[in-house]
Amino acid sequence: MSTLKPSLLDYTQKELTELIKPAFRVKQIYNWLYHQYAESYDDMKNIPKALKEELAEKYLVNPLKIANKEESTDGTIKYLLELQDGKTMEAVWLKMKDELKDEDGVVYQEARYTICVSTQVGCKVGCTFCLTAKGGFTRDLSAGEIVAQVVTLKRDNNHKRNRKINIVYMGMGEPLDNLNNLAKAIEIFKEDEGLCIGGKRQTVSTSGLSTKIDKLGEMDLGVHIAISLHAVDDELRSELIPMNKAHNINSIIEAVKRFPIDTRKRVMFEYLVIKDKNDDLGSAKKLVKLLTDIKAKVNLIYFNPYPGTEYKRPTKADMVSFQEYLINHGLLCTIRDSKGIDISAACGQLKEKVAGEE
Ligand code: SAH
Ligand code: SF4
Repeated sequence: MSTLKPSLLDYTQKELTELIKPAFRVKQIYNWLYHQYAESYDDMKNIPKALKEELAEKYLVNPLKIANKEESTDGTIKYLLELQDGKTMEAVWLKMKDELKDEDGVVYQEARYTICVSTQVGCKVGCTFCLTAKGGFTRDLSAGEIVAQVVTLKRDNNHKRNRKINIVYMGMGEPLDNLNNLAKAIEIFKEDEGLCIGGKRQTVSTSGLSTKIDKLGEMDLGVHIAISLHAVDDELRSELIPMNKAHNINSIIEAVKRFPIDTRKRVMFEYLVIKDKNDDLGSAKKLVKLLTDIKAKVNLIYFNPYPGTEYKRPTKADMVSFQEYLINHGLLCTIRDSKGIDISAACGQLKEKVAGEE
């Protein structure tokens, strides 16, 4: 990171107050960054030229450029974003609820969106089913590069600062493998005078680094966690997620039990369903047993195939019977609708597609 210039998005408001004087300028700059989504110092009309020049020497305004964009018929927009060193990663704009209008055409419920952000370029975990893993690991994203994804997507979709948005850390990379920058980004998102996105609106998805789940819990940031479980026995899980050998299923379950969770909420367990691997009712039965003592909900995900993978997408019938088994045995369970399936919106897939077309 040392050769890269930091951006104004790398700092909390308090930190900026230490870097920039007088303090009211920080308020104005914060407004430009998080209310107006400024792209450059030129946008910041009420900031003196001398201060802008001084800041420009040390800090970028936003470290990202939109390199490519693909829009799905369901409203999902997948962005390929370029960093200042030319590396690329992805963020996805997901439409969760449609806008609703009454008979007179008056909007009574605005559309609801979630932004899926990346935390690393590539990933070290090396899951055998994941396209991101195929490219190996390049580098961590800074807090500002994580924050910039949300600013950039909100700006591109003209989404006003006061409209609610949820963040899921489910793009490229393993968030807990970049814990310090992740925690900083979470804090910056929460800033009252910034984007004001509370911990309750942020979900960290992890492949299960159990010791880091504990660390995230100790930071008490108020975020949700989602565990990418995908298998109910260590043998298969270690085949799918090699680092399961160091952080086995039991250690993850124990860490989840220690994690501070809002009593009204549940921990999400993601279960990627792969045909003939983990789509049988025997696995469903073991899953119920594994989650007995946890306030859990399960999200079943269809494996999204890509060229060169040996794994196959499960049938709808098998998905539904798996779901019914869990529900009949007292677990909350949803099937993730494959948003953006026509634009390959699963983890790492746009980046690979663009690379393949070059
Ligand atoms: N590293 C974190 C977050 C990023 S991955 C984690 O693993 O949880 C986000 C989600 O995408 C994970 O649940 C992962 O299992 C899923 N995913 C990866 N490859 C996929 C594919 N080919 N089809 C469907 N989901 C996939
Ligand atoms: Fe990394 Fe998550 Fe992909 Fe596994 S599924 S390789 S942890 S991004």
